Amino acid sequence: MDVNSIKAYGTQAADAPLNQLNINRRYVTPHDVQIDILYCGVCHSDLHTARNEWPGTIYPCVPGHEIVGRIVSVGNHVTKFKVGDLVGVGCIVDSCRECEYCKDGLEQYCEPGMIGTYNSPDKHLNTHTFGGYSENIVVDENYVLRIPENLDLAAAAPLLCAGITTYSPLRHWNVGPGKKVGIVGIGGLGHMGIKIAKAMGAHVVAFTTSASKFAEAKRLGADEVVLSKDEQQMAAYRGKLHFILDAVSAEHDINAYLSLLRVDGSLALVGAPEHPLPVAAFSVIMGRKSFAGSAIGGIAETQEMLDFCGKHNITADIELINIQNINEAYERLLKGDVKYRFVINMASLS
Ligand code: NAP
Ligand code: ZN
Ligand code: ZN
Repeated sequence: MDVNSIKAYGTQAADAPLNQLNINRRYVTPHDVQIDILYCGVCHSDLHTARNEWPGTIYPCVPGHEIVGRIVSVGNHVTKFKVGDLVGVGCIVDSCRECEYCKDGLEQYCEPGMIGTYNSPDKHLNTHTFGGYSENIVVDENYVLRIPENLDLAAAAPLLCAGITTYSPLRHWNVGPGKKVGIVGIGGLGHMGIKIAKAMGAHVVAFTTSASKFAEAKRLGADEVVLSKDEQQMAAYRGKLHFILDAVSAEHDINAYLSLLRVDGSLALVGAPEHPLPVAAFSVIMGRKSFAGSAIGGIAETQEMLDFCGKHNITADIELINIQNINEAYERLLKGDVKYRFVINMASLS
C-alpha cells in the first residue's frame, strides 16, 4: 500500500521522553478522509500509555486522541464530508461494525475490540495506530465528528475524549434536574464533568484535593466544592449524592466516596489508575450501592455530546502549548497542575 511519511511526536520506550519522529499514514481509501491536524488535546491516558502504565504499549508510541483539524482530501465514496470541513477525531478510528454493540452505537465496547486512535492494530498498514501528536491523520468517514461552528477549535479539542467520557456516564445514569451529583478530581475530565452535569440541570458537588481549584470549581459551574482531604467537609455529604463520577488518575480511597452515596446510588469510575482500588464489601452492601465504570462513548453519542456542547456553548478551559513542551506538560499533569487541559498547537510541529 502507498504511504505518506509524516512528522509526529512520540516515544520509543516507557522511560524515554517524547521526541520528533516519522510515521506512515495510508493514502486515502474510498471511505477515508485525510485531516490536517490543527490542535490535539493532552489526555492523562496519553501519559499512562506512553509510559506503559497500563501494560500493552507498542513502541514507538504516538499518543493523542483529542484531534481537531481540517479535511484536505476525501476518498471517492465519501458522502458525509468535503475538503475544507473542520472536524474532530476522538478515541475510536474503527470497529467491527457488525457486533451487537457496534450496531447499538456502542463502538467503544465492540466485541472483537474497537480500534483505538493509537496503540491498536492497524489493518491497513499491518502495524499499530498512531495518534494525533502528528501532522495529519487518515480516518474512515464513519468515525469522524463534526465540530459545531460556534465553538473555539482549540478549546473544543478536549471534548473528543474528556467531553464524551464524562457526558456518556452522566447520560447513562440519568443525571439531570433533582439529582445531586459528585464530580471527583478536577482535571481535564473532571472540569468537563462539572460543566456538562450543570448544563444537564443537576446540582453539582465538586471534590478536589487541590486548594487552588477550590474557588475556581464554582466558576466552572459547581454548586458546592469539597476539599476531599478534609474529613469534616467530606462527612457533611455522607449519604447525600445520587451519583458520583470519579475522574481521578491515581490511587485514592474509593470507600470514602461510596459512603457519600444515597441508597441505590451509583459511583462510576472513569479515571483509570495504574493499580487496583480496594473496595470494602460493606461500602456497597449497606445502601444497595453500585460501583461501576464507563469508557468514552460511541460515535453517535460523541456527535450528540458535541451538539449539546455547541448548544450550551461549552468548551474546555485550556492552556495552549507547543509540541516541544509536551514532556514538561506530562510532568505538570502528574502534579494536577493544569487548568484544565493542555492542548497542543500542532502548527508548532515543524
Ligand atoms: P488529569 O487532567 O490529570 O486529572 C486527574 C485529576 O485527578 C487531577 O487533576 C486531580 O484533581 C486528581 N488527582 C490526581 N492525582 C491524585 C491523587 N493522587 N489523589 C487524588 N486525586 C488525584 O487527568 P484526565 O485526563 O482528566 O484523566 C483522568 C483519568 O481518566 C486518567 O486515569 C485517564 O487515563 C482516565 N481516562 C479514562 C477514560 C475512560 O474512557 N474511562 C477516558 C479518558 C481518560 P484534583 O486536583 O481536583 O484533586
Ligand atoms: Zn483520553
Ligand atoms: Zn463491533
